[in-house]
Amino acid sequence: MGLFVCDNCECVDNTALGHFWAKNIVQMKGFELGTALCSECTPDEFANGEKHEADILTTPGKWHGRFPKEKWDGKIDVMNRKINPELLTGGKA
Ligand SMILES: [Zn+2]
Repeated sequence: MGLFVCDNCECVDNTALGHFWAKNIVQMKGFELGTALCSECTPDEFANGEKHEADILTTPGKWHGRFPKEKWDGKIDVMNRKINPELLTGGKA
């Protein structure tokens, strides 16, 4: 399971829980195609006007609660951002 950074709020979410793998195929209302969205930022409507229903894992517009919602600190490996090496070695960012 991978992690990614939400393009809207910059928080880290799991690729299985947020809108990540389908982001280049499925467009969400109010966002451009290709936008990665955490579960909380994912709207309950697709760009084409269809309703985005809750599933067993997530409810659109709500944080899933499986781990705390935290901003990406640049130190952990995520699918759609590069780690800042200066942060890892203790250097000043
Ligand atoms: Zn978000």
